[in-house]
Amino acid sequence: MGPMNFYAGGGLDRLAHLRTEDGWVERVLGEERARVVAVWQTRNLVVAGDRPEPALLPVEAIRPWLDEARTLAVLGESGRSLHLAIDVSHWSEEEAHRRAAGIGEWTDLRRVGPLLGREDGSLLAYARGLMWWHARHRFCGVCGSPTDSAEAGHVRRCTDESCKASHFPRTDPAVIMLVHDGDRALLGRQKVWPPGMYSTLAGFVEPGESLEETVAREVFEESGIRVAEVRYHSSQPWPFPASLMIGFHATAATRSIRLNQSELEDCGWFSRVELRDFGQQGKALPRADSIARRLIEDWLAQG
Ligand SMILES: [Zn+2]
Repeated sequence: MGPMNFYAGGGLDRLAHLRTEDGWVERVLGEERARVVAVWQTRNLVVAGDRPEPALLPVEAIRPWLDEARTLAVLGESGRSLHLAIDVSHWSEEEAHRRAAGIGEWTDLRRVGPLLGREDGSLLAYARGLMWWHARHRFCGVCGSPTDSAEAGHVRRCTDESCKASHFPRTDPAVIMLVHDGDRALLGRQKVWPPGMYSTLAGFVEPGESLEETVAREVFEESGIRVAEVRYHSSQPWPFPASLMIGFHATAATRSIRLNQSELEDCGWFSRVELRDFGQQGKALPRADSIARRLIEDWLAQG
C-alpha cells in the first residue's frame, strides 16, 4: 500500500468509545488543550498565509460561539490537542465575517486543500463533512419530527417519543477508476471543469450494486467501453459534500469510445507520453490532492 490519499491519514484518534459516556463533552470542553474548529455554511475558518492553517480556537476565547452554535461535536485527539467542531451556519454573512475578523477567513476547503498539511487537511475535511450532515438531518427521515444531536455529535435522534429513530452520519460511496488498455489510459472531461482538464471516470454506487459492478456500469454509461479486470487501488474521503471515493485500476476489454454527452464533454485514450507532456498540449491533470491524480500518477509510474 502506498501513502494514504490526502484528507485521510491525519493521525487523529476519534475516541469513539467515549462518545456515549455521560458528561464527556463537558469534560472535553473543560480541558486546557481543547481546540475548536468552526464551520460556517460550507466553509472552514482558516488562518491565511503561504501555508494556511486551521484556526484552532481555545474554548475560553469563543464561549459565545459555543453557546450560539447549532451543532457541536467532539472530533478526537491528536498529539497537540483535543478537537471539537461547531457549526455556526445560521449566522448571516456579515455576522460571520465580523466574528472571524482578526482570527481567520471562512474558506472553501477545496480552494486551500492542496496547500494544507495532511493533519490539518484531514481535520478540516472531517469537521466540514460532519457539520454538513448535521445541517441536513435536522428532521427525522422516518416521521418528520425534529432531531437532536447525541453521542458527542455523532448521532441524531428523533425527538418524537414513539419514534426515537437514530440517524448516523452518512458517507456516500462513489467509485473512481483509471481504465487502461496497457498502453493508454481512458480519461474524460465534464463541461463544468476548468478548461483543458481531463480526469478519470467516476460515479455513485447504487443500491444493490457491488463496487466492481458500479465501475463496469459507469465506464460503459459514460464511454461505451467494457471493462475486464477491476482491481482496488485506494480510497479517499471527499467531503464535497459527502463522498467516499473508492479508487480502482481497470483494464479495458473494448477500445471504441461511444461518448455519452449528457455525462461528458469529451473522452479519449491518452498514452503515457502524452500524459507526461499534458501541459504542453494545453491540457491539465486533476488537482494534486485528488485520488484521481494519484490513480493517474501511479499508472504512469508503471510504464
Ligand atoms: Zn422520527
